[in-house]
Amino acid sequence: MAECSHDCSSCGESCSSRKTSPQDFIEKLSDGSSVKKVIGVVSGKGGVGKSMITSVLAVLFNRRGYKTAVLDADITGPSIPKAFGLKEKAKGSDFGLIPVRSKTGIDIMSVNLLLPNENDPVIWRGPVIGGVVKQFWGETIWKDIDYMFVDMPPGTGDVPLTVFQSIPVDGIVIVTSPQELVSMIVGKAVKMAQMMKIPILGVVENMSYYECPDCGKRHSIYGESHIEDVASELGIDVIGRLPIDTQLVKCADTGTIELFNSSYLDDTADKIEQKTKI
Ligand code: ADP
Repeated sequence: MAECSHDCSSCGESCSSRKTSPQDFIEKLSDGSSVKKVIGVVSGKGGVGKSMITSVLAVLFNRRGYKTAVLDADITGPSIPKAFGLKEKAKGSDFGLIPVRSKTGIDIMSVNLLLPNENDPVIWRGPVIGGVVKQFWGETIWKDIDYMFVDMPPGTGDVPLTVFQSIPVDGIVIVTSPQELVSMIVGKAVKMAQMMKIPILGVVENMSYYECPDCGKRHSIYGESHIEDVASELGIDVIGRLPIDTQLVKCADTGTIELFNSSYLDDTADKIEQKTKI
């Protein structure tokens, strides 16, 4: 048998020190950091509004009086700093990276807060990206955080897997949009969470409908929703629906997401709160 390299993730040998539980890979927080609950926001594919839902949920939990943080693990498509209008860069100290605090007090860490130019693309391979996310969790000073929302990398590949293995996620919210492939896309995310033994808090359907501001009629722009059927087939709850909302997009685009004033996701926040009591 080959000598043990202590890198169980790449070792095909069955050695006595081999660990098989996903939890064994979890990184420790830095000294003095504490995070009570970690909520991962995931999607089976990109562009469905995962970052939008992450930002809105963080704002809602912060408004409810929880000390809230966002870890932007979507390293190749980081959009959290823009939504919160963050201009300053994250700084380092002898004790670790210091997250940037938003106007209303949400602690945020994202690769865009470290890059000299936020428009530069991140052209890194999977293991490097996974390493950065581990550092965001384990080498950032997360002070007395009640709820941390993690904007997960999209899909079910190598990078989201590493993130799931490195961060002790208490539950995930699956984001999807109404489309033909929804059953398959959500199904993949569900299976991944089940394999990682992470509780699924529920699914949120984004861009669910458009409500005409003049007559109030709801239009199904992306087709009729099948989310209730899909969710019941997969044994998960539908915990929210967000319509296509140009005001919300304006807030995200102008860095003022903390000012949005719709109640679309209030029920979603209630359900997450109930399912993850701290
Ligand atoms: P993801 O994180 O899944 O890649 P984003 O949150 O970045 O997706 O959203 C993708 C695009 O869709 C963004 O331009 C965002 O502003 C827009 N968007 C997201 N949610 C909504 C919504 N409810 N109504 C209108 N546009 C939305």
